[in-house]
Amino acid sequence: MRMADIATTNRQWRLAARPHGLPALSDWEFRTEPVPTPADGEFLVRVLLISLDPAMRGWMNAGRSYVPPVGIGEVMRALCAAEVVASNHPDFRIGETVTGSFGVQEYAVSDGAGVTRVAADVAPLTMYLSVLGMPGMTAYFGLLDIGKPVAGETVVVSAAAGAVGMVVGQIAKIKGCRVVGIAGGPEKCRFLIEELGFDAAIDYKSEDVRTALKERCPERINVYFDNVGGDILDAVLTRLARHARIVICGSISQYNNEGPARGPANYMALLVDRARMEGFLVFDFHRRYAEAEAEMAAWIADGRLRSVEDVVAGIEHFPDTLLKLYRGENFGKLILSAGDIPE
Ligand code: NAP
Repeated sequence: MRMADIATTNRQWRLAARPHGLPALSDWEFRTEPVPTPADGEFLVRVLLISLDPAMRGWMNAGRSYVPPVGIGEVMRALCAAEVVASNHPDFRIGETVTGSFGVQEYAVSDGAGVTRVAADVAPLTMYLSVLGMPGMTAYFGLLDIGKPVAGETVVVSAAAGAVGMVVGQIAKIKGCRVVGIAGGPEKCRFLIEELGFDAAIDYKSEDVRTALKERCPERINVYFDNVGGDILDAVLTRLARHARIVICGSISQYNNEGPARGPANYMALLVDRARMEGFLVFDFHRRYAEAEAEMAAWIADGRLRSVEDVVAGIEHFPDTLLKLYRGENFGKLILSAGDIPE
């Protein structure tokens, strides 16, 4: 086996208990273990960056979902960017940079399943967890394949200053749509308009969303990309255009509920407006990721698409940093750096 410099200890966060409401510190165990040794056909990675995703809250719950729950006592599941530091695998060499589901820990062994090599010299590594990674793919396929926006139409996106929402709005602009973002707070709303070129924004924390949609979507709404569910989804349903498409990407306003998620009361608007509401999972599009990555890399290169990342340093800060997502404290893609923040 070939090896690079490797520490002897592996710090990791394991799930200690199923949370009630927002995850508490007592729901986690911070453990230090020996660094594992890769067997034949495996390699060892040093985790550099950990993607913090709203879905992590769902993975902590028992019950049926699109992936099995994280078991009590298991290392918390997470997408990561990492460096291969030892290898007994014919296809992965020391020094290569990869993304994969390595968990909230400093080292992991892998047999290569679900691992993707990334060109760290082409784009900053953070971008492979952001616009060129899972959130970017979510925005691209959710908007274009499910939302099917047409130039001149009005696209509304919620959690618009977050990882997925920012990319949705920018792609909708590239496609010639009028774009309205819904986000929490004046700073996020200002950024959407002044820095990302959105046509309008709604601060759902200080404005009545229903009234604001009436004013800022005079031609009504053709595509709503829903990241939040709850009251905002209900408000949007009152302002649909005929044959509107609602893309159900997520419902973060409901993830920490103690009871079941609250459904939309105004769903009969789907009938009145002959509208469609459709959920999707980004992973179903994995065979087409290269197509999306190439198109988005070209938009980044010609300055039409920006990636915004919010990087926090220190794996020890995982529990608190994760909560930023549910408190609206992140700006763009939230990433935890396992060590120092890379240049
Ligand atoms: P994100 O938008 O970067 O972060 C979450 C944001 O949600 C926060 O910054 C906050 O922004 C907003 N938020 C939190 N609580 C809220 C509430 N009660 N009401 C309204 N907004 C609230 O996260 P992301 O990674 O881009 O994910 C966005 C959504 O996409 C999530 O629902 C996620 O589960 C979903 N998703 C789905 C797929 C899929 O395959 N379907 C894949 C990836 C992500 P404000 O400051 O604006 O409140």
